[in-house]
Amino acid sequence: MTQLTDVVVIGGGQAGLAAGYHLRRLGIEHVILDAQTAPGGAWQHTWSSLRLFSPAAYSSLPGRLMPVQAGEVYPDAAHVVEYLADYEKRYELPVQHGAWVESVQRDGPFLRVHADSGDWRTRAVISATGTWTRPFLPAVPGRREYRGRQLHTVQYRSPSEFAGQRVVVVGGGNSGAQIAADLAHAGIDLTWVTQRPPRYLADDIDGRALFDAATARRRALDEGHTDTRGVASLGDIVAVPPVRAARDAGLLGTRPMFARLTATGVEWADSTRAEADTVIWCTGFRPALAHFASLRLRGTGGHIATEGTRAVDEPRLHLLGYGDWTGPASATLIGVGRPARDAAREIDGLLAR
Ligand code: FAD
Repeated sequence: MTQLTDVVVIGGGQAGLAAGYHLRRLGIEHVILDAQTAPGGAWQHTWSSLRLFSPAAYSSLPGRLMPVQAGEVYPDAAHVVEYLADYEKRYELPVQHGAWVESVQRDGPFLRVHADSGDWRTRAVISATGTWTRPFLPAVPGRREYRGRQLHTVQYRSPSEFAGQRVVVVGGGNSGAQIAADLAHAGIDLTWVTQRPPRYLADDIDGRALFDAATARRRALDEGHTDTRGVASLGDIVAVPPVRAARDAGLLGTRPMFARLTATGVEWADSTRAEADTVIWCTGFRPALAHFASLRLRGTGGHIATEGTRAVDEPRLHLLGYGDWTGPASATLIGVGRPARDAAREIDGLLAR
């Protein structure tokens, strides 16, 4: 049986909830379909020592400040999950958990959303499916020959499972730095490999400064000025306390990217080698957009072409979260509120026509 609603939001992480909040305020009928069986989006699956790079007050969705976590300036992932679960309940957001959307198709004046829980006919779609379900691993020679264990950021939980091992961590972003610090503090034999020397943001940079930099970048691009590079101009790694402590203790030395994997480890271009029981790839993510394959939307670099949050080739579709290409700092807790509001308002206008 096909159900009808004005808007289907795909994804019930922070971006989907922010969309729901604004749709609700405008009195727009909608449903939020989320593949996870419980609230919290990707935050449910991160490693236990992960710390937000901003204090709670700067990690809040529209309408409700994130409460401070007792004893912590930078909340952990469990605290975010709790906050999102409470947010979903507080605003009575119509989230259907355990609903995986397989495809979205055009159907005359409607869009048809095909989920494993049933079909929906709708006048607009907001996609907020994040990136966590699409881990990216670079093509490095020897990956198939290597006989040790390889995992991506998404599979990392805690250092305890690597006790007594030699571990290579690849990637100079926040995930790489936090996981390297986690392993280093636990005394694991660590080789941290980065494409360029790690660039730490100043220790006093918090989420507010990151949001401001992302906003200034978007404004500059919109006004046709030179790309300020936004957050990237400040550095790659936020020095959250565990990273700062490991760095200051001299535990976070790095080596440049290796040339290949061997059967038992990694090898650099100058033929030096490091043996490794495990390689952890902290090499980023791509947007989870496979459900739009049949719409054949234009885009580059795995993105869909957008104006603001609206897809250029399909005005009934909005994209939220994912990265700066869907709004300044749209893939952060503090940044997603504004693009969510803009998407809801545009959809309100569309429904009124
Ligand atoms: P997600 O949380 O991934 O939610 C998407 C939801 O959609 C999920 O529940 C998923 O299961 C569901 N879904 C996916 N595909 C489908 C489908 N086809 N059908 C139905 N449901 C689907 N941001 C900050 O603000 N502060 C930080 O400190 C911070 N630290 C970060 C640290 C790491 C390691 C990472 C990876 C990110 C961090 N971020 C941080 C960025 C960002 O806030 C998170 O990535 C956040 O989870 C993004 O939220 P989202 O709602 O866009 O996506």
